[in-house]
Amino acid sequence: MSTSSFDFDLFVIGGGSGGVRAARMAAQRGARVALAEMLGTDGLGGTCVNVGCIPKKLYSYAAHYAEAFEESHGFGWELDKPRFNWATLKANRAREISRLNGIYGNLLTGSGVTVFDAFARIDGPQAVVLKLHGEAGEKRVTAKHILIATGGKPSVPDIEGREHVIDSNAIFDLEPFPQRLLIVGGGYIASEFASIFNGLGAKVTQLYRGEQILRGFDDEIRHFVANEMIKSGVDLRLGADVAAIVKTPDGLQVKLQGGGEVMADAVLYATGRVPTVGGLGLDAVGVAQGKGGEVIVDEQYRTNVPSIFAVGDVTSRIQLTPVALGEAMVVVDQLFGPAAGKPPRSMAYDFIPTAVFTHPSIGTVGLSEADARQQHGEVTIFRSEFKALKHTLSGSTERTLMKLVVDTKSDRVVGLHMVGAEAGEIVQGFAVALKAGATKAVFDSTIGIHPTAAEEFVTMREPVKA
Ligand code: FAD
Ligand code: NDP
Repeated sequence: MSTSSFDFDLFVIGGGSGGVRAARMAAQRGARVALAEMLGTDGLGGTCVNVGCIPKKLYSYAAHYAEAFEESHGFGWELDKPRFNWATLKANRAREISRLNGIYGNLLTGSGVTVFDAFARIDGPQAVVLKLHGEAGEKRVTAKHILIATGGKPSVPDIEGREHVIDSNAIFDLEPFPQRLLIVGGGYIASEFASIFNGLGAKVTQLYRGEQILRGFDDEIRHFVANEMIKSGVDLRLGADVAAIVKTPDGLQVKLQGGGEVMADAVLYATGRVPTVGGLGLDAVGVAQGKGGEVIVDEQYRTNVPSIFAVGDVTSRIQLTPVALGEAMVVVDQLFGPAAGKPPRSMAYDFIPTAVFTHPSIGTVGLSEADARQQHGEVTIFRSEFKALKHTLSGSTERTLMKLVVDTKSDRVVGLHMVGAEAGEIVQGFAVALKAGATKAVFDSTIGIHPTAAEEFVTMREPVKA
């Protein structure tokens, strides 16, 4: 396994989801592996752990308590008006994230990975130069293979008053709590934070430039979740965008295109992410990049320079942690062999389940109705919309939507979508069925678990449209 003419068999740039997984697994297969993380041990875990999935989900849990307190009255609970302490949430989140950073560090060193607290730059097809934190000068190391796993970062358009806005990295530690929060964007991040801060007690305005938030998701799901978010208090404005932002003694004056204004204590721009490639030396070594700077890879995640690979958000494809992890495993299996007794892994990009942690949340796997019609021609749609059992007593008017998209010819379920409580938890299991090629007949022959919301997916008998 070891290639003695190089310092390492694999050098991983970036200690996020993809990088840590690749480094750890390669080392466990006996490779000599190093990893550089520019944020040092505090950054281990990358976007997901530090400023993404994990803190976001913790804040989402925090926000759900607001409705839980409210709804508990219908179940007989009597409590004084609860107060929310933003400082406590931030401190507890920070403590948990530090704990996770430590676990990632231990996993790496425990697997024998050499971890550099350094910014890395590629200095040839098989060489990396490290700018070590707190040290003058640079260190050059060689590696048989290099993996670029440098992720992405928020992108904010050049608007008038841009200096007054924050991005999703800054929202987690915002001080003070924004009583009035304006969010620009209609994607995952904008919609999730609209729900979170609405739940935590802020007056939230969400501006989206298009017709409906969450472009790319099933249209009915988009409309349904938007309506639920509005019902819960989010001031969602569609076809709206910012003209300029001016700082005034009363807060930020957000002037809207076409007239009107919104006053806010903070403005969050969640308008997409761009690959982190600055200073990486890609030009010098000739690694091909796309228009947005993303690293271009083939099906095996190899760049046009055969010794250099890239996975995760830096390739600007599907930006999800489990996707980065899956891609990392393909690289490791390819370079160092699969796990004992297992075939080499491959990645398929159809049937990747995903959740949007809005309130209520979205869970989805497979094709939207529109995409299914395009790909399969004839499709049959099954749909169920209802008030969850819990809300018969809770007083909440929240509704749940579940939808199946079936390829009429083969009877295969090609899309499964849900808006409702714990949608991600429910859809993860059904994703296995869809990947396995389950037909509607298999769904129909599956016994439900009663009383749950999930059982609706196996009890939808009558199509609503073909
Ligand atoms: P990253 O995790 O971004 O890691 C890249 C690492 O490389 C960083 O630590 C960076 O500091 C380091 N680095 C960059 N350049 C260098 C260099 N030159 N030298 C050394 N180190 C360098 N995904 C989900 O699946 N579920 C979710 O719920 C979810 N929620 C999200 C919420 C938010 C607010 C955001 C922003 C993202 C969320 N994501 C979620 C997406 C997920 O975080 C990313 O898809 C995932 O982190 C990508 O992993 P990665 O390894 O490609 O990059
Ligand atoms: P998205 O690409 O999902 O959404 C960006 C949004 O910003 C879109 O609504 C887009 O509008 C809008 N937008 C883009 N440019 C501008 C502009 N110049 N002015 C106004 N609006 C603009 O990006 P996010 O930042 O929300 O998230 C990045 C990625 O991170 C996601 O795609 C997802 O893969 C991942 N993520 C995953 C989560 C999860 O799994 N739960 C949670 C959070 C993030 P338009 O639609 O018109 O282009």
